[in-house]
Amino acid sequence: MSTPSQHDNNANDMTNKKATDDLMSLRFEQFYIAVEQSPVATAITNADGCIEFVNQRFLEITGYSRDELRGKTPALIQSGMTPNRVYDDMWSTLHAGNVWKGEILNRRKNGELYWEAQTITPVKSAEGEILNFVAVKEDITLRRQQENELRLMATAFETGQATVITNADMVIERVNQAFTDITGYESHEVIGKTPKLFKSGRHDKAFYRRMWQALHETGHWQGEIWNRNKWGDIYPLWQSITAVTDADGEVRHFVSVFHDIAERKRIEHELEDQATRDHLTGAYNRRAFDSALSQCVSDAMHAHQPFVLLMFDIDHFKRVNDTYGHDIGDEILRQLAVCIKGCLRDSDIMARWGGEEFAILLRNTHQPGGETFAERICQRVRSRLFSGHGITISIGVGEYHLGETQDMLISRVDQALYAAKHQGRDTVVACEQEEADNVEASAW
Ligand code: GH3
Ligand code: MG
Ligand code: MG
Repeated sequence: MSTPSQHDNNANDMTNKKATDDLMSLRFEQFYIAVEQSPVATAITNADGCIEFVNQRFLEITGYSRDELRGKTPALIQSGMTPNRVYDDMWSTLHAGNVWKGEILNRRKNGELYWEAQTITPVKSAEGEILNFVAVKEDITLRRQQENELRLMATAFETGQATVITNADMVIERVNQAFTDITGYESHEVIGKTPKLFKSGRHDKAFYRRMWQALHETGHWQGEIWNRNKWGDIYPLWQSITAVTDADGEVRHFVSVFHDIAERKRIEHELEDQATRDHLTGAYNRRAFDSALSQCVSDAMHAHQPFVLLMFDIDHFKRVNDTYGHDIGDEILRQLAVCIKGCLRDSDIMARWGGEEFAILLRNTHQPGGETFAERICQRVRSRLFSGHGITISIGVGEYHLGETQDMLISRVDQALYAAKHQGRDTVVACEQEEADNVEASAW
């Protein structure tokens, strides 16, 4: 029999136990709600790995219902693509009573693969016997995809064309290896600076204004641009700049991709040269000369720009060939072209008219200037040796008269050259003013 005080104690114990049970039950309810509503998938298995509980998120991720999962092992959601060593490591860690963390590729009920980051904790009895495993799993498929994409982009960035990424204020944030290869600048030398560093001075303000206008209006610009590298060399690039905007349409970055087109330019130049130059002397050919002459005539008519035509021919060249051979004759032609070219301005044009006859266009020049120039080259040729031999030339010179055709001018100058030959060679003959019959008086 219990004493009254014992009875009281028992009653107290009962009351305390009830209160503890109530609290436990409340706590359980709270934790249950927390786990059930957690955005992280949770599964509890028995010691054999059979599923006893899964939360709502687990069902959403796997696509299975509770009934389909109950009593099964997580083998149900294995993809078969996670290497065995991962599971070996997991089970040896768990059986040793430790927490295992790792990433596993699983498969949803609909067959889709997904990546999970898992933390599995063994729950032990007071005696240390494993009773359950609690697995908390986060779907990291998106993160993995993003990481893969970033890796891919980083590889593309590093192995692709030269690239500069700036912020909206054109301050350089990133460059790649190809950029360093072309410009000579290491990334630490340009980050924080602006692309003004690369300006060659070859483009005027209007060029940059057009570039910015295109960037503002279309978000894109591409074209040929000449930049200066770290060593001061100026080189041509094909550059493509794109404005990168955020969700509100605000420009956040500019991405500029470019490649060196020096080689392409060189080939273009060579092809252009082949099409317009005479192979032996490097002077322009007849076709290029014809187009330059018609441009001069047009400039004379529309912009009142005067010009002079000179035609010269080597004296007794047949004799030179006969005496020294054709190869020496060729070399003399080459050296003569170099000699005369040295007297020309950039705007002047010299062409091989045919055989050993040449024509020169002197832009912005009147008759007296043309005659002085002709006398100078006549004297220059006379005073030099070409391939070790002295030669002379005869020259006809005439200023273009407004209103006459190209052929009329050529014919006048050719007649002057013929006259120079007639006068004994090694001399200059200017076209007579009267020869410009039926032609309007020059307006300049
Ligand atoms: P001149 O002009 O003083 O009246 O006498 P020429 O002997 O120079 O006569 P012409 O101008 O008619 O002669 C043309 C000669 O130029 C014929 C040829 O022997 C030589 N010739 C023309 N083209 C070439 C060339 O490409 N190479 C070489 N080596 N000789 C050429
Ligand atoms: Mg001749
Ligand atoms: Mg000739």
